[in-house]
Amino acid sequence: MEKVVIIGTGCAGLTAALYTARANLNPLVLTGCMPGGLLTTTSIVENFPGFPEGIDGYEMMTRMQKQAERFGARIQFSTLESVDTSKYPFILTIDGEKVEAETVIIASGAGHRHLGLGSEHLLEKKGVTYCATCDGALPMFRNQPVVVVGGGDSACEEAMYLTRFASVVYLVHRRDSLRASKVMAARALTHKKIQPIWNTVVTDILDVKQDKVTGIRLKSLETGAESQIDCTGVFVAIGHVPNTQVFKGIITMDEDGYIIPTKGSSTNVPGIFVAGDCSDRVYRQAITAAGMGCAAAIDAERYLAAMNQ
Ligand code: NAP
Repeated sequence: MEKVVIIGTGCAGLTAALYTARANLNPLVLTGCMPGGLLTTTSIVENFPGFPEGIDGYEMMTRMQKQAERFGARIQFSTLESVDTSKYPFILTIDGEKVEAETVIIASGAGHRHLGLGSEHLLEKKGVTYCATCDGALPMFRNQPVVVVGGGDSACEEAMYLTRFASVVYLVHRRDSLRASKVMAARALTHKKIQPIWNTVVTDILDVKQDKVTGIRLKSLETGAESQIDCTGVFVAIGHVPNTQVFKGIITMDEDGYIIPTKGSSTNVPGIFVAGDCSDRVYRQAITAAGMGCAAAIDAERYLAAMNQ
């Protein structure tokens, strides 16, 4: 039987792993389908305290994992399929195997939000992507026009990264100002390769018949005018959706799937705790996720201590 099972290996999960490992709880930590979480797809993290020069997202997560493993965390490349909370210890089904757990820390993070266009789905990996650091250097984007959709920090970061390869980066945003932090917005808007297209939405991605991206159709939200631009890539950076599907109907969540903690990191099920982006629609930073992971670990440790008194 496991004392602690942690779902997710982003900043929240790995910090929870570090703290529970140091409390001698020997945590089992499930990676899910994206080991290291979304931060592994970031180029440089400049706002995590302690790294004055910034640090590559992948490197940061690798270091966090090593640190947790050093104290006994067991990282397992597997996915949680279901949770049975009708019994205690809880029964988790992990890649077909039943595992008993006294406590669970949900740190399953969030995935990329999609535009919801049929052509977006059909052209995924054929020019439509959700990660510039993963795909930006591909030959099909070199010296070609590309499009980034969104107005947040992610969109600015993606656009900046793509300026290394693309001939021009169109930044398509549905409003007339960016949501991104001031420093990121200023960087993007002053870059000579980045051309913002304001008050505009993407209505279609071309060309499904050719089985590759050749352009996009746009609609102005101000005038209703429709237009088309040529590009070989569409980088969608319009936010995230929490990875909480497996807990639906068991753990209390809001209408968008963000888990709602009851007190501290506790959920509606005693012994199940939550941390990071899957329960945070406000801050969503690496450092806040890490802090929440720490809190969840301490809460789980105290819960176990109280149960075993
Ligand atoms: P975000 O801040 O939620 O921004 C999403 C953007 O996409 C918004 O501009 C939004 O428009 C737009 N959008 C949402 N749905 C859309 C749709 N269906 N069609 C068109 N546009 C749509 O998400 P994010 O940029 O991924 O950032 C998430 C969090 O991570 C933030 O807290 C951010 O600060 C953080 N982050 C930080 C860094 C960094 O500091 N290095 C890098 C990346 C992310 P509206 O503005 O109109 O709502």
